[in-house]
Amino acid sequence: MRWIPTCAVVTTHRTGPLCRLLANDALGRYNDGREGTPGAIAGGEWDTAQIVESDAVVNMQDVVEKQLQSREGVTLSMPVQYLKGVGPARAAIFEKLGVCTVADLLEYFPRDWIFAPERIKIAAIKPDEPATILALVESIDYQEYRRPPIFEVVAADDTGVCRIVWFNGGYLRNQVRLGQLILASGKAGIYKHQLQMTNPKFMMLDETHAEPEKHFSGGVYPASGRLGSRQIKQIILPVLEHLDDLVSEFYDEAVLKETNLVGRRDAFAWIHMPPDEQKLDKAKRRLKYDELFLMQLGLALRRYRTQHSASATPCVLTDEIDSRIRRRFPFLLTEDQNACIAEIVQDMSRTTPMNRLLQGDVGSGKTVVALYAALLAIANRTQAAIMAPTEILASQHFLSMERYLKNSQVRRVLLTGGLTGRKREELLTQIRRGEIDIIVGTVALLQKDIEFHHLGLAVIDEQHKFGVHQRAELRKDGVPHCLVMTATPIPRTLAMTAFGDLDVSVIKHCPPGREAVITRWVDPKDRRKAYAFIRERLRARKQAYFVCPRIAAVEETGREIKAATDTWKELSERVFPEFQVALLHGRMPSAEKQRIMTGFRKGRIDVLVSTTVVEVGVDVPNATIMVIEAADRFGLAQLHQLRGRIGRGESKSYCLLFAETDNEVAKSRLEVMTRTADGFEIAEQDLRIRGPGELFSARQHGLPDMKIANIIDDYDLLVIARRHAFQMVCADPSLAQPEHRNIRRTLIAKFGSSLGLADIA
Ligand code: ADP
Ligand code: MG
Repeated sequence: MRWIPTCAVVTTHRTGPLCRLLANDALGRYNDGREGTPGAIAGGEWDTAQIVESDAVVNMQDVVEKQLQSREGVTLSMPVQYLKGVGPARAAIFEKLGVCTVADLLEYFPRDWIFAPERIKIAAIKPDEPATILALVESIDYQEYRRPPIFEVVAADDTGVCRIVWFNGGYLRNQVRLGQLILASGKAGIYKHQLQMTNPKFMMLDETHAEPEKHFSGGVYPASGRLGSRQIKQIILPVLEHLDDLVSEFYDEAVLKETNLVGRRDAFAWIHMPPDEQKLDKAKRRLKYDELFLMQLGLALRRYRTQHSASATPCVLTDEIDSRIRRRFPFLLTEDQNACIAEIVQDMSRTTPMNRLLQGDVGSGKTVVALYAALLAIANRTQAAIMAPTEILASQHFLSMERYLKNSQVRRVLLTGGLTGRKREELLTQIRRGEIDIIVGTVALLQKDIEFHHLGLAVIDEQHKFGVHQRAELRKDGVPHCLVMTATPIPRTLAMTAFGDLDVSVIKHCPPGREAVITRWVDPKDRRKAYAFIRERLRARKQAYFVCPRIAAVEETGREIKAATDTWKELSERVFPEFQVALLHGRMPSAEKQRIMTGFRKGRIDVLVSTTVVEVGVDVPNATIMVIEAADRFGLAQLHQLRGRIGRGESKSYCLLFAETDNEVAKSRLEVMTRTADGFEIAEQDLRIRGPGELFSARQHGLPDMKIANIIDDYDLLVIARRHAFQMVCADPSLAQPEHRNIRRTLIAKFGSSLGLADIA
């Protein structure tokens, strides 16, 4: 955030009469155009004679004078550089920590807190009770060879000796010094007949510390190199004296009561300097709530805008249309499918463009639901576009639709990259004239140069990719109803955040008649046994996938990573010479890929060795074995996707994960895979293992960073905040009511222009 001062501020050098002038935009002549911190804008020192020439400047001097007297002028947008104790050097460090302004500093929350009890003498320590002692470091010993390594100090005061140990305390070697005083707070116990304090919070003292406890207790800040936690605290504490001016309340009394939240001002005071643990908890809860609330408010506003900015063609469903569509499917739709369809039909009947996410595991029957929506759009004289992330998937969609649309009058086309020249031109013309009803292709292709006659519905199959950009882009040309399909079961937390501006329909249960997939984690030494087992299944005319992390072998220190080409060679020549083994990977020409996929679908190929190209959308019910080589190399979502390729028919399917790893994260992934097949659980676990940080890392969602709330752990708060935020936007869509002023200002500061909020300022 860049600071544009709203009034001039002068900082004096204590040593001299010169002022440094920070000009604002209104006084542009003092702004030499350079961007950056006010210091840079000022560009140096101005002598007073020059200043006195202008009225504006004289006024400014008054302002300045006043500020200097009262030490007011700490505002949220003020750069931290101008705070006491911070200069350009520290400001630069702060910037690396993401702290530029006072507002950032207030949200630079401690990562931990110390509630140190009153200091006592070592002799007075009672085992297993928390104690704070002040003692002299008499010896230091780092036992690196121990597991875990132990950093050990013997400290003494005039009443006794206490051993203090820290596990994994290697980092303490340059903090704890022999012959210095240490203030340590923690629980002590008797260990090997000696008094021992384990992993205490501590502080080294030098003679300048008058009241060490005051600096000791309170927040512990994430520090960076030359800017330690304690220094950060010394900079923040004085700012807290201005909280009354800096922090304004968002909610009225009634809301605070109902949600059981403490005031926003208190929350900031307590999070940095908690009087006790209860107040700290209340502060955390309030600040988390606000963070979640602001995020949800942003989403609610975004949603409101997309819904009200343009209108779509309403699609009417009659009983006749409904039964005509249903007749296309050789089975009864499941309860979940019907429920999703009902929601979609509702949406599409309105002029408000549908903006719905359809989620359901692979094979749960989403394509059928999407096709229903497409046929509804067509029945209402509009076109439908179905977009997939890859050509393979696009042609899969097309093929499965063909199954249902045989002998129908629906005019449909698969648009591929291979299609060029006159044929392509002809097709594009037909699409433009409205002579084609359903257009299937990749997202890239369909967004490029296609002009629709009247696009009523866009279905975007994202599979496991969260293609937020794609959604946004589609908005540009016209406003069709929009249905986004995803095969990654989106954890409820994600559905409310990353996808929080979409409506969500879920297919929870797969169509009947599916056998569960049996998943085993296979040690590579059991490879032969696994091959024998696979051979048996192949003899029974079943088919198998072998998935490898990469196409060709790459030198990698320490271990061999299975490459698809090598695996294919080995399987076809040595392991399964009596069967048809084919290779498929992304770098093959399109036609070749098609040929192999067709061969596999038709059963001419028994074993398909591939990279993750099969991850998406391939539907071969007779394939009942999935071998994943170097399974530890894949993410959970990916493993789940891959496994979704099998278990689509009526016989038992087996997923064999070949992996050899010491990596804890990889192990826990594999363990989750063998334990559950529930896509939702897997997605939650995935989020847990990877952490939600990754979720927001790209900032592609236009959501602000989470500084204190965690969408998984604070799910309950998230739900309340979401309801509250959506209600607020419903009642006051531009947040124009006076009681929403503070919220609106904060929101604009946080989201900037990304949500188009500036226009309601
Ligand atoms: P998804 O797109 O979610 O991966 P599909 O729509 O491709 O799932 O459906 C997977 C398989 O289940 C297909 O072979 C399809 O024909 C079949 N299927 C879909 N819905 C039903 C149903 N209601 N009853 C029986 N089979 C179904
Ligand atoms: Mg599908």
